[in-house]
Amino acid sequence: MKTAIVGGGIAGLSSAWALTKRGHDVALYEKGPIPNPLSASGDEHRIIRRAYGGLSGYARRIDEAYEAWDELWADLGEKHLVENGFLIVSQRPGDEAEQYRDGLRAGGYPLELMCADEAAARFPFLEAGTFRYAGFSPEGGALLCRKIAAGLVKWLRNHGAAVHDDTRVTAVDPAGTVTTTEGARDFDLVIVTVGAWVLDLVPALAGRLTTYRTAVAYFTPPPDLAPAWVGAPVMLDAGADSDGYAIAPIGGSGLKLGTGNHKRPAPPDADRTPAPGEADAIRKWFAPPLTRLDEYRHEKTVTCAYTFTADQRFLMHRRDRLWVVSACSGHGYKFGAAIGRRVARHLPDGDEEGLRAWLEARERVDR
Ligand SMILES: Cc1cc2nc3c(=O)[nH]c(=O)nc-3n(C[C@H](O)[C@H](O)[C@H](O)COP(=O)(O)OP(=O)(O)OC[C@H]3O[C@@H](n4cnc5c(N)ncnc54)[C@H](O)[C@@H]3O)c2cc1C
Repeated sequence: MKTAIVGGGIAGLSSAWALTKRGHDVALYEKGPIPNPLSASGDEHRIIRRAYGGLSGYARRIDEAYEAWDELWADLGEKHLVENGFLIVSQRPGDEAEQYRDGLRAGGYPLELMCADEAAARFPFLEAGTFRYAGFSPEGGALLCRKIAAGLVKWLRNHGAAVHDDTRVTAVDPAGTVTTTEGARDFDLVIVTVGAWVLDLVPALAGRLTTYRTAVAYFTPPPDLAPAWVGAPVMLDAGADSDGYAIAPIGGSGLKLGTGNHKRPAPPDADRTPAPGEADAIRKWFAPPLTRLDEYRHEKTVTCAYTFTADQRFLMHRRDRLWVVSACSGHGYKFGAAIGRRVARHLPDGDEEGLRAWLEARERVDR
């Protein structure tokens, strides 16, 4: 089938990979470079973890996510996942860390709980006395997005897919026509995976998706604390109201701090230059539980744009030959390779319900 994929983030690249493997004739269009640093998939890394609190359907899909990444690593000849596990830190009864703890317990997934003193001894970047307890799970880590994108582009080109970077799609239609700055072409299938820019191409989704702008900040720890971060797990939740996550310095990129509290509704191209003081606004959510955070040196701030559905599930929309697949709501990267495989499995047969059920994760996973 002649298939166009619009958008070269993880959803588009993985779909192109899986469809090419199944013999489809794939053309991928990306308006910027790949990876595009302005895309949600264009930062240094994203977290993969089992913990999911209330959205337990996604926790059950993590086995499939890992299987799909393993298939990708085998094809790329390289593994771009640092598996240091993840940490949750509870500061208050009922905080998000505690919800993750409960979700992990309910699913029967591994979690080692530690009192605050024990956790601070094992992870000296934590300040004992500022939190109640911590939990460590070996099932998690950091996916190295830029290496994954570069590997996928190389694989796609070596396997006959047409990868058109720096080519903006200006219109798509249900009959299968894709219009770029260079002209119009017809396809059997058109798959739109343009992340935060989806409303530009498919405005009908405006009621179902809200676009946000956020930022993450990178820091260098003081020299005596730096060894504590080497090989440290990703911190999935820093407790209390922080909605904060941290990724230890990997490959010279610094300690990354991010919080869901920093996001605000905005069009995807608005305010993409970090504002002065933005890194400190992010940093403040992490003290507590991180110790001596004011001694960390700010390196860079990276802005991001993404969309959310009201219930934080992924979204699928179809009109004839046109399909929109949105790995949205701030947790889609970890499923990137699995989404690609699911797109290749369901979409060429027109199995709209199969793809929707998997993406929305409302049921036990069908295998
Ligand atoms: C701050 C932040 C932290 C996150 N943390 C995590 C995490 O830890 N774990 C996790 O699993 N997920 C996480 N996510 C979510 C994850 O990053 C996204 O779910 C995922 O990257 C979305 O990929 P995508 O391919 O759908 O979209 P994107 O990566 O945004 O890709 C869309 C692409 O389409 C291109 N495009 C747009 N318009 C056009 C056009 N008209 N023509 C051609 N190309 C176009 C864009 O340039 C872009 O490259 C996070 C997101 C953010 C913003």
